[in-house]
Formats: sequence, structure tokens, C-alpha cells
Amino acid sequence: MGLAMTCVDYVDYLVQAGKRIASQKEYITALDSKTGDGDHWVNLNMGFEKLSAMQAELQSLKLAPMLQKVGMTMMSVVGGSSGALYGSAYIAAAKVAEGRDVIDVLLLCALLDSMQKAIMQRGRAEPGFKTMLDSLHVAVTRMQKAVDSGQDDVTALTAMKNGAKDGMESTKDMEAVKGRASYQTNKGVGELDPGAVTMCMQLECLADLAILKIA
Ligand code: ADP
Ligand code: MG
Repeated sequence: MGLAMTCVDYVDYLVQAGKRIASQKEYITALDSKTGDGDHWVNLNMGFEKLSAMQAELQSLKLAPMLQKVGMTMMSVVGGSSGALYGSAYIAAAKVAEGRDVIDVLLLCALLDSMQKAIMQRGRAEPGFKTMLDSLHVAVTRMQKAVDSGQDDVTALTAMKNGAKDGMESTKDMEAVKGRASYQTNKGVGELDPGAVTMCMQLECLADLAILKIA
């Protein structure tokens, strides 16, 4: 059987991701205090708390309007750069999901790809700039490669999950080109980028839930 995630499943994933982020307050805040201004966890957690409170409402929508609403909510509730970046990402994903009811691996690749492109455009960022993009980019690239070479859905989702982690870990040695770490004298070298860490947490939750749905 292949991946067939509904809107209800996707919102369940958002709630799970919110729990994972909520549990990492000290770790994320400490990371962002070293390389940024220390508010990344507060910003993102506020957004996920709001989304979790909207669970039933979001689950009553079709896929595209749900993604659009998630984007608008992130944009208005999440402070800092992350709010605008996640907002743009979800609004771009909503356009790709137009008219669709079920997320299969091809659609998931397209959704994640539209998100990375929106973040690149909105943040004027590229992979290698030590941002959240570094986790997402490797995740999408590995997943796309697995799908293109005819791998099964679990293999493609596992490649996505491992890519998210490898991409996140790669930020440790990077010099920040965008974001607050770029204002530091050492450009954040030696520390993981907090935005890449929280992006990785979300993608891991997404892959885990998607794989569970297939099994
Ligand atoms: P702020 O930096 O405005 O305080 P947050 O603390 O919420 O916002 O988020 C910081 C994270 O946002 C960084 O760790 C990085 O991953 C990401 N980020 C910051 N600026 C950009 C950008 N221009 N493009 C992509 N990602 C960015
Ligand atoms: Mg910050």
C-alpha cells in the first residue's frame, strides 16, 4: 500500500509536531540564545499551540484551504522571521494542493518543494546559508531522488527523514549568511541553527506519521 494522507491526518501530524516542539523548550531556547536572540522556540511554539487549538476546525476543511489557514495563522501568530517564512511556505503549499483530497508521495514531494521555494524566495536564502532551509532542502532532495528511482513509499519517506537530520546536522559547520547568526563574529560556526533543528523535528514527525499510515 502507498501513502494516502488526508487533511485529517495532516492536522494530526501538526498536533504531533507541536507536542515535539513543546517538549524541547530548553534545548531550542539555549541554541537560539547562542546564535540568535533566544525567541525561536517561543515564536514557533506559539504558532503550534494555536494550530492545535484549531485542530477540529482545520480538520473540517479540505486540504488546500486547511494549508492556507495554517499559513495565515503562522503568519499572524508566529513572531520573528519564522512566522513570515512558515506562513509563505504553507500558503505556497496550499496552491499546490488545490483540488486534491489525498497526499500521496508525489504530492508530498511537490508540497515540500513548494515550501522550500517559498522560503528561499521570502528569506532570499539558499541552501548552505545555515537556516531552516538546510534541513528541508536535503529532505526534499533525498525524497525526490528516491521517488524518481522507483523506490517504495516507506523508503522514500525514510530518505526524507534521514535527509532532514543530515541537513540539520550540516548547519553546525556552516557560516551563517542569513538570520541573526550572520551578525556574530564567528557566524555561528560550531552551533546548530535552531530553525534547522525545529524544521527537522517537524519533518521527522511527518515521516513517522506517514510511515505509520502505510504500515
Ligand atoms: P528571528 O531570527 O527573527 O528572531 P526566529 O528566532 O523565530 O526569528 O527564527 C530564527 C530562524 O529562522 C533561524 O534559526 C533560521 O533557521 C531562520 N531564518 C532566519 N532568517 C532566515 C532567512 N532569511 N531565510 C531562511 N531562514 C531564515
Ligand atoms: Mg529569534
